[in-house]
Amino acid sequence: MTDLTSLTLAEARKGLADKTFTSLELTDAHLGAIEAARVLNAFVMETPDQARSMAKAADERIAKGDAGPLAGVPLGIKDLFATKGVRTTACSKILGNFVPTYESTVTSQLWRDGAVMLGKLNNDEFAMGSANETSCFGPVGNPWRREGSNTTLVPGGSSGGSASAVAALLCMGATATDTGGSIRQPAALTATVGIKPTYGRCSRWGIVAFASSLDQAGPIARSVRDAAMLLRSMAGHDPKDTTSADIAVPDYEAAIGKSVKGMRIGIPKEYRLDGMPAEIEKLWEAGAAWLKAAGAELVEVSLPHTKYALPAYYIVAPAEASSNLARYDGVRYGLREQGKNVIELYENTRAEGFGAEVRRRVMIGTYVLSAGYYDAYYLRAQKVRTLIKKDFEDCFARGVDAILTPATPSAAFGIGEKGGADPVEMYLNDIFTVTVNMAGLPGIAVPAGKDGQGLPLGLQLIGRPFDEETLFSLGEVIEQAAGRFTPTRWW
Ligand code: GLN
Repeated sequence: MTDLTSLTLAEARKGLADKTFTSLELTDAHLGAIEAARVLNAFVMETPDQARSMAKAADERIAKGDAGPLAGVPLGIKDLFATKGVRTTACSKILGNFVPTYESTVTSQLWRDGAVMLGKLNNDEFAMGSANETSCFGPVGNPWRREGSNTTLVPGGSSGGSASAVAALLCMGATATDTGGSIRQPAALTATVGIKPTYGRCSRWGIVAFASSLDQAGPIARSVRDAAMLLRSMAGHDPKDTTSADIAVPDYEAAIGKSVKGMRIGIPKEYRLDGMPAEIEKLWEAGAAWLKAAGAELVEVSLPHTKYALPAYYIVAPAEASSNLARYDGVRYGLREQGKNVIELYENTRAEGFGAEVRRRVMIGTYVLSAGYYDAYYLRAQKVRTLIKKDFEDCFARGVDAILTPATPSAAFGIGEKGGADPVEMYLNDIFTVTVNMAGLPGIAVPAGKDGQGLPLGLQLIGRPFDEETLFSLGEVIEQAAGRFTPTRWW
């Protein structure tokens, strides 16, 4: 039998249905891989007992012929999703040993469809970061290394644990969240597929909130088809989230292999940055050529407000975060640091419980929302956001079906290499991804090639609202042309 951990989700589904192996065998193979890869620090909580009992239940359902669409496939869950009875911390000290008494809607739908939980995955604290270095559990290692080098690189962030675990074949797929790029950027840096669906596609209920008007859940997977399978289970209307859209979820897998002939692909000229590495430029051209060869038509488009997206995002996101994080006060859950009075208790708890990046965001957010500065910063950023959204609307109104861009401005970098002296250096990672969140659109990152040092690079496709299907069709064309990439095991 081939190594069970190297199968795609779609292949595992077939093997399980054909009774070539059981879910318990598949789950045990992944639990073994997790144990052997602890040096990557991808998991912050392993749940082997729960995994095995879920796998046995899945095997019984399969035997009875009553298997759900994800029956028996072992997944990892970002530690931002509340999991009933299993510690959920958002990788922040302030949540301490918080154990939710409820399950997030997205994860409950995965369990409804038969998936198996292997454990909780590392992420940047409250999902604030682009390198998974702000986690209270420490950084995550990228399974990819530069050729001939032993330096451990970051997997990107904030869903660094999800991307690393999927790339290192520790789980067959993972949940992730994306506020400014946290699904697509780590996917690109690890040669995995990540899709941030349209805002409202997946319920945010039971997901630790960062910036509520931007946050979306989505999968990180080994292939475009696997991502389509996972998203189908994760998506759907939820009355418990008033921003969740009451729109039927299509069978995303049916979009795989569909012809892209005649589709119009926008190439935004503003994404051609000064000083962009030649390798990224080359990759972008290759992606455009593959889509053209598949029958798509390339058109140059303009998204003129792109240059304001990053500054506007770093006002809107901290503003919402400062409000969302007000609830962590040492009274209701998690960490409590005593003080002489209740104010001191709040102050001590928040000073001790939040890491440096989270404190920075809370301070920026409080500042831009304060009476004297609200109009100059927050209100202005909201106006910019409307203009960014309009840029995309104008583009789609011209008959563009999707937009092709690089996913990241560079390949993976070393732990501690960026943002130490100037946080903006880290924020620049999100240059190609934040506009998509600001506009609420779907975006997929697909592995497309390697740089000169053998590190993976990804391309991004941006779609119309609720048209994830087109992204799956086009994403698969890129996947077919570029091939799939697996890191050489060193751990
Ligand atoms: N890197 C961005 C930030 O730090 C985006 C994070 C995310 O998408 N959760 O805010």
